[in-house]
This record gives sequence, C-alpha cells and structure tokens, in this order.
Amino acid sequence: MRTSQFFISTLKEAPSDAEVVSHQLMLRAGLIRRLAGGIYTWMPLGLRVLRKVEGIVREEMNRAGAIELSMPAVQPAELWQESGRWEKYGPELLRFKDRHQRDFVIGPTHEEVITDVVRREVKSYRQLPLHFYQVQMKFRDEIRPRFGVMRGREFLMKDGYSFHTSFADLQREYDNMYATYTRIFTRLGLAFRAVAADTGSIGGTGSHEFHVLADSGEDALAYCPASGYAANVELAEAVVPATPRPAPIAALTKVATPGKEKCEDVAAFLGLPLTQTVKAIAVVRAEPPQGTPAFTLLLLRGDHELNEIKAQKQIGEFRFAREDEIVAALGSQPGYLGPVDASDAVSVVVDRAAAALGDFVCGANDAGYHLTGVNWGRDLPDPGTGVDLRNVVAGDISPDGAGPLELCRGIEVGHIFQLRTRYAEALKCCFLDENGKTQVMEMGCYGIGVSRIVAAAIEQNHDARGIIFPAAIAPFAVSIVPMGMAKSPAVREAAEKLHDELAAAGIDVLLDDRNERPGVMFADMELIGVPHRIVVGERGLAEGRLEYKGRRDAEAQMIAADAMLDFLK
Ligand code: ATP
Ligand code: MG
Ligand code: MG
Ligand code: MG
Repeated sequence: MRTSQFFISTLKEAPSDAEVVSHQLMLRAGLIRRLAGGIYTWMPLGLRVLRKVEGIVREEMNRAGAIELSMPAVQPAELWQESGRWEKYGPELLRFKDRHQRDFVIGPTHEEVITDVVRREVKSYRQLPLHFYQVQMKFRDEIRPRFGVMRGREFLMKDGYSFHTSFADLQREYDNMYATYTRIFTRLGLAFRAVAADTGSIGGTGSHEFHVLADSGEDALAYCPASGYAANVELAEAVVPATPRPAPIAALTKVATPGKEKCEDVAAFLGLPLTQTVKAIAVVRAEPPQGTPAFTLLLLRGDHELNEIKAQKQIGEFRFAREDEIVAALGSQPGYLGPVDASDAVSVVVDRAAAALGDFVCGANDAGYHLTGVNWGRDLPDPGTGVDLRNVVAGDISPDGAGPLELCRGIEVGHIFQLRTRYAEALKCCFLDENGKTQVMEMGCYGIGVSRIVAAAIEQNHDARGIIFPAAIAPFAVSIVPMGMAKSPAVREAAEKLHDELAAAGIDVLLDDRNERPGVMFADMELIGVPHRIVVGERGLAEGRLEYKGRRDAEAQMIAADAMLDFLK
C-alpha cells in the first residue's frame, strides 16, 4: 500500500473531550471519527485494525468448532416479551416502532434470536451440541457512552451461543471457550486476566470475564497470587468475608445518592444547593504521603438505572491541590453550584467537607450512602468519577483462604456465561432425547468486544509519540519512509522495489510516498503505531544499506538492503 492511494488523516491535538489516552490517540491517528455520542465511523486505517482483531477471533472460533452465521440487528419485540427481557432490560434497550406501529428493538445481544432459530431447526439429541456465533454491530443505549469506542453505543461484538443435551456437555464447551479466549487474547498480544464474574442481567450460573489490564479500566479486579483466585470485585464483594478494616489512615470517600434524605443533609451541611442538574454531591479528600491534601468535589446527576452506583453520572468535577484554585473554579462554575459566595466558599467547603467526612465515617454503606476507606496508593479510585465504591481492599484474605488479595484495574473485553436453561425454558427450546422424551436444552453464551479491544490494546501499548500496536493487529506491519524521493530517482526506485518485495512476501507494508518533510512522515508513522520503520536514503543506499527502527527501539540501526526481508521475518 502507498499513502497516496490510501487515506491517512492525523491530528496534532486530540479534541479536549477525549478523556483517556486510547480515545485521544484513536482520534489523533485518524482511526475513528465521531458521528454522535457513542457512535463512530471506522476510518480506513482503524478498520484495518478492527478487521485484524476480528480475523483472529474468527479463526480461533472456527478452530474451536463454532459455526458462523449472521443474525438481524433488528429484532421483533415479541421475542423479548417471551423471554421476559422486554420489561427487565431497561433503557439500554433501544426500542422503536415500524410504520405499522409494531414494536422492535435494535439488538444489544442475541440470546432470543438464536434460541428462536435453534428451537425451529433442532429437534433431536443427534443434532446437538451446536455452537453458533456471529460478528456483528450491537446497539446499547449506554447511559454514559465514553472513552470513544471503549464504551460506545454502537459497537462490534463477537457473540456465540451453544446448545447442549446436558449440563456436563455445556461445561465441556465452557472450558473449550475459556481455552479459546485465552488463545485469542494471547494471539492479540495483550496482557490480560480471566476473572470469575457476576452473571448480571443475562442470568445463569457460571461466568468468567476476560480483562485487559490497564489502570484506566472501569472494572476493579481482585487477585490472589498464592492461589490464582481472581474475581471481578463486584463478585468478590459478595463472597469475601467481611474483615475488620484498619482505620482509614489517609483518605475517605463519600457519595451521597439522590432521592434519599441524607443527600440533602450533606448538601445542607456543605452549604451547596441541590439543583435540577446537581442531585448529589460527593467530596473526596485525599492525603498523599507527600504533598498537599487534595479535595475533589464531585457533582453528580444520579439517574438511577440498572445499577445504582454505576449509573451515577458525574456532571462536574473540581480537583484541587490549593485553596485558591477552588475559589477560582467555584466562581467560574456558577451553573453547577448556584449562587455560591466565592469569597468564603473555599474555607467553608473544605472545612465542612472535612468535618462531614469525620461525621459520616460511621455511616459507611448505610442505605443511600457509600463510604469507603481508601489508602493512598493502595486502592485505586474509579477513573471516571474519582470515587472508590469498593468494600474489598487490597490485603483482604481471598475467599479460598489462600492469602491476601491484590487489586488492579481491567477493561472487560470478553465474557463467557453458563446460561443453563434460562432462555431455552422461556422460549421452549427443546429436543427429543434417546428415549424420545422432550427435554429443555442447556445453553452457554460467549461475547467478545471486538471494537473495545482496539481501544484496550492502545490503552496498554502507547508512548508519548503515539500508538504502539501489537504486531498481530497493527494496521501496517512495516512503513517505508523515503528521504527526498521526489529529487532522487535512486531513492524512489529502491523504495518502490522494497515495497514490492515486502508486499510479495505477504507483509503489510505502507510506503509513505506523500513527499512530506521527513519529520512529518516519521511522526505520522509513529502516531499510527506501525511496528517497524525503514528509512530509504541516498547515503545508506550508496553503501547498500537501509535504516531500520522498531517502534519501541531507542536507536535506529543500519541493515544490508538485501537482508531486510529476512530481518523482518
Ligand atoms: P460492561 O460491563 O463493560 O458494560 P457488559 O458486561 O455489559 O460490558 P456483555 O454483555 O458481557 O457486556 O457483552 C460482551 C462484551 O461486549 C463485553 O465483554 C465487552 O467487551 C463488549 N461491550 C459491552 N458493552 C460495550 C460497549 N458499550 N462498547 C463496547 N464494547 C462493549
Ligand atoms: Mg454493560
Ligand atoms: Mg460487565
Ligand atoms: Mg459482561
């Protein structure tokens, strides 16, 4: 490929609303462009990455014995009414009417549709087991789409569904998928961890999530090095026995939830009015071992949806190290705060916040209240809200009693479930067994967030100059940057020859023939994360050599031109 025949559109600066590094870099590198909240166009360069992820997922699913099909995005409401999820799913389910006033949804997931297919097609135990999968755009009307394609509303998912005559056979396939997912994320070149997970609104019994490890991850994970026990903290909180907490030595977090009287108490106490938009206020005080204590005032809009805590929307945040900064910020944000007297606001807010934190220590985790002891540097605050809502802290003994738990953050990129008969029963998906007796099928389901993986990979692999794609998913494996190609026929010829040679060897090569200044071409190739770069210049050519630099290398090195292909392999 030549840049002149492709489309590269990079930006010097990321738009200011891009909060996490992967979102910033995906915009800067021109991988995606925003159409609406949580809805993105995959630009040609980004699409190449997406397709590589998809390709690896597809190869491993096929190898594992799953069979690909493609189901409609638009699904009739009747199926969702049959499963009971029409009522249960909540506003994440995008519903609409057709011209005949019939209800439809845009599929956030496909348990209903696949179960409908299988109940019509499969009659006998002889046809089972079966595992169907697809790679398809899903739509979830996320309450807070954010971080670009990390939490989009429209996003690409691989979703698979397996059907079995017995629980034992479902467990076999579940183990098969666990191994398959492990292979997929290994091939993708990502640092990941599988953790036991809550089964959430899909229901069912056994479940594991696969997380790409990254500090910016929305999920907190608990891990016990002594035994390998690993769980999403959501789940660990339910099973880890309550241990007496040491007194929080450094910091406290308090969140008042809306609609509860205590919220108003806190507001009154802090002297801040609750308005139409500000329905909850949280004050976070953190005292690092070194430096000045920092106060964070969070103004939350609590649209209570499925999960009370997760659904809290943060609509404003002021994070300060110094009191005078608080004054300035309070003064400049009257819309959120209402009429606050800036002159004494700081000391009032800070004093009251500190006092309030002291007062409410005993109220931890009462209804309408969430208070967690946080030790600076030991626990990690939620990157989105800055608030820590966990009960499980590092050092707690793991449920298996093997040793202390460590905590880290992860991005959920895969999720496997034993659904058992949850859907098959509701939709009457049955088969005839050896004795001619009707039985309900056992089901499993297996999701991978294909588009989220692209963001997660960048979150884990980048530096100050841009993306460092793992080789398996890089848009191009090698870039060729010619020096002064317009003026030097020798350079042009050598660059073209090298391009053709590498392309013929099946290497994804990008020849930058834009005739830009070298600095511009270098910066772009680094920004978009091409793992290998070859510079073709007159001086090197005179000695029969090319300059090579790996994306993570500190220094370039000279390689004999005729040895380059072998070197890259
Ligand atoms: P999350 O906890 O992040 O909301 P989920 O548990 O709701 O995800 P699943 O129903 O398990 O998601 O869907 C399977 C996979 O689809 C997830 O593991 C994740 O990788 C991906 N996914 C889910 N929601 C989104 C989204 N809004 N944007 C991008 N990928 C998503
Ligand atoms: Mg979700
Ligand atoms: Mg989840
Ligand atoms: Mg999940």
